[in-house]
Amino acid sequence: MKKSQNPQIPNPKSKIIAMLIAKKIYKLLIVPFRDIIFPPICFLCGQGLQEKEDRVCNNCWSSFPEVTRSHPVYVELTERFKSGGVVQQFTACYLFEKEGKFQEAVHLLKYRNLKSIGIKLGIEVGKKIMLDSIQERIDYIAPIPLHKLKMRERGYNQSDYICKGISQVVKKECITDLIIRKKYTQSQTKLNLEERKLNVADAFGLNLKHRDLVRGKTILLVDDIITTGATIESVANVLKKNGANIVYAASVGAAK
Ligand SMILES: [Zn+2]
Repeated sequence: MKKSQNPQIPNPKSKIIAMLIAKKIYKLLIVPFRDIIFPPICFLCGQGLQEKEDRVCNNCWSSFPEVTRSHPVYVELTERFKSGGVVQQFTACYLFEKEGKFQEAVHLLKYRNLKSIGIKLGIEVGKKIMLDSIQERIDYIAPIPLHKLKMRERGYNQSDYICKGISQVVKKECITDLIIRKKYTQSQTKLNLEERKLNVADAFGLNLKHRDLVRGKTILLVDDIITTGATIESVANVLKKNGANIVYAASVGAAK
């Protein structure tokens, strides 16, 4: 006798189809209706968003202060990386100033779950990497990881989304779990350079499942904001010790 199917349990395929239909209905009917009652506004300035703008308006985006190659903050960081001898080149997009709109945008990404801002910031970093003409040499892109306790608390690593944006532009693979954060480090904001170096010493390790990927390769390490470069250097050392050929660093912001 043929077994009758239990009508109470929908099969996974019909569940997916139902979800797709619900999503379509939401997009076609609910979203326009919602946008009429609550027009989308910029998270930074409160102005109404234009059709192609998402979360942050173009005016706010273009107000983020750029960090040029001749800017003292960029020059100082580059000098520091040069004397450290493990990070070969450094790319950054914006100057990170306290109370500025760019800081607000980074906070939206880090603390308010607006991951699409991370992808957009990453795209901007990617464009700058293309201008630096180093994309050809990059084998893999890797974010600075969060400690698993922090990851549990926040639910995501903001740098993963920045990497995603970079990866879309430079067309190189991103390995989000290449590095592991072994030590739960205290916040670096009130520490000086030497204290920061000590704070992150031995904090990172290579994820052993990727050990064979690193040898002889060029890795682009990505962080949201770089201040002294101590964290990036600590991770770059781990990669070098495991046979990486070249380590580049990139961040959306460079801070004083
Ligand atoms: Zn705005």
